[in-house]
Amino acid sequence: MPKVRETSDKPVRFAFITHHHGDHAYGNQVWAEVGATIVATEAALGEMKTVETGYYGGGPGRWENAAKKRPDVAASRLKPPTLLFPRELFFDDGKRRVELRWFGVAHTKGDAFVWLPKEKILYTGDACVNGPHNNLNDGNVAEWIKTLEKVKQLGAEKVVPGHGPIGGPEILVDQQAYFVDLHRRVKAHFEAGRSPAEMKAAVPELAAELKKVANIARYVPENLTTQAEKVYRELGGAAFPK
Ligand SMILES: [Zn+2]
Repeated sequence: MPKVRETSDKPVRFAFITHHHGDHAYGNQVWAEVGATIVATEAALGEMKTVETGYYGGGPGRWENAAKKRPDVAASRLKPPTLLFPRELFFDDGKRRVELRWFGVAHTKGDAFVWLPKEKILYTGDACVNGPHNNLNDGNVAEWIKTLEKVKQLGAEKVVPGHGPIGGPEILVDQQAYFVDLHRRVKAHFEAGRSPAEMKAAVPELAAELKKVANIARYVPENLTTQAEKVYRELGGAAFPK
């Protein structure tokens, strides 16, 4: 909020969240309290309904679990988005145009991007990160690759990722290349008939191979097991043994 005040004294009327995850959506209340309408895709709200069970009258959900460990979360309230769009929502005051756009399943089912066509600036949320910050659990890697292909066509010159430093279009290229390579390598193991235990055992070597590829090395996490398991399961494999 102080950052916003450095550039404008106008009221904040809309706050857009790219997806439903807590590190992107648990601050909604702060903006709602100053009069902003919280905006997201319909799919992001759908995702919120499946994981924020406490808010929607069921047992404890992600917010309640986070609140147990985080006093700042505990001191907040969940505020789901109230202005929803299925695929796109545009703001245009004649001087500046802001496009909120959904391109398909990626990091979640509901990720939307912010695209400033005049400035060629793209805000990606976690559908694109710059560093070892990918969380695959609520997404689908095969779909994610296709979604990033569409996003690349925008022609962004400046890319602001969900996590990691700002960069140029190479961030989109590298993020997609990382998933293509990860998917290809896990698929080779899967098609060779590797069991979940064998696949799990092959992960350190797979991570080492990925780290050798210059433009994707920075995406490889310290422990690749969760990501490899996610792809292996998407391909039809069973969960890894503990
Ligand atoms: Zn996220």
